[in-house]
Amino acid sequence: MTRLEAVTDSFPVSPPRAWAEIDLGALGKNLRVAREVFPGALMAVVKAGAYGHGLEEVARVLAAEGLAFLGVANVGEARRIRDAGVQSPIYLLGATWSAEREEIVARGWTPCISSLAEAEDFNHHAALQGKRLNVHLAVDTGMGRGGFVVDHLPEILHQLEQLPHLTIEGIGSHLPSADEDEAFTRRQFERFCGIIESLGGAERFKWMHLSNSAGLLGYDQGLCNLSRPGLMLYGVSPLPGFQEKLATVMTLKSRVTLVRELPAGHGVSYGRQFVTTRPTRVATIGIGYGDGYPRHVSGKGADVWIRGRRFPILGRVTMDQLMVDLTGAEDVVEGDEVEIFGPNISVGEIALKAETIVWEIFTGITPRVLRVYHS
Ligand SMILES: *Cc1c(COP(=O)(O)O)cnc(C)c1O
Repeated sequence: MTRLEAVTDSFPVSPPRAWAEIDLGALGKNLRVAREVFPGALMAVVKAGAYGHGLEEVARVLAAEGLAFLGVANVGEARRIRDAGVQSPIYLLGATWSAEREEIVARGWTPCISSLAEAEDFNHHAALQGKRLNVHLAVDTGMGRGGFVVDHLPEILHQLEQLPHLTIEGIGSHLPSADEDEAFTRRQFERFCGIIESLGGAERFKWMHLSNSAGLLGYDQGLCNLSRPGLMLYGVSPLPGFQEKLATVMTLKSRVTLVRELPAGHGVSYGRQFVTTRPTRVATIGIGYGDGYPRHVSGKGADVWIRGRRFPILGRVTMDQLMVDLTGAEDVVEGDEVEIFGPNISVGEIALKAETIVWEIFTGITPRVLRVYHS
């Protein structure tokens, strides 16, 4: 009779079916590439769990390289960075709303200001707490998401300067199409620099910033002395011509869970969108859209990498599994490691086939995928 054992910490734990290997050393290399291109200061953007790479781990590594700021999306992310023991200044990239402001003031995080009402509210909280808060003036030069849009910025700055508990230490704006429209982006840099001049020039602000990764890589920075790269730190260039300089950070992996021979005329996966036309050796792999691998690549000719070769995905990606055509590869067996994307299958290629962007692929990798760190 089989004896049932309780599952304890000492019970052998099965390895994960899908995991992401994160090369922390590559992060540092990519930060140094940003430094070579742009000699000013850097705000490393680590929003959305460091683009799915793991907020705490990434923040620790990047902070050790010396940063002006870590850029986050919300107070929850800022809190996690502090809880991880990272002390770098924190900048909130988007608009804050009223319920977040008391904590922002208390913890000295740096918000950007898009309206006088916001500024007055921050000033009010800072007064109550007996503090002075550094804030950045956000100006909308074309993104349409935040910042002051009006033409009387000198007047607005003057009004902001009347608030005794705020220090306007920086000015920032954002680029909507640095990777798509060079002419527009050049004009945006000119406009932004013109705005700085109209507000008293570069001496007026400690920090002036406009660029994301594409802005940093592709454009002369004018008066800007701070840049906000995200994607390029994670090893992907939004502009052609820089990809070779960057090191892959995330490699998404899984395993072959099953190898079978299907006869001709056999459907593969939901909807039977793919039907074999010949006897076909098919591998089932333990990853699917439940792990964040995009179902949209189904039928678009996406490949995976096994034992140094590409194999095409057959039919639709399912929630937990996908199938590939192994025909001609007698050496692939159950348990083999599969690269879903990484150094051999670029994440850019997968994003293109899924008709989306790399940012969405990275941030869509779900918590079920174990992040494994090495340097
Ligand atoms: C996300 C974000 C960035 C970083 O953009 P990348 O294209 O990933 O480099 C920079 N600035 C702002 C305001 C952002 O929201």
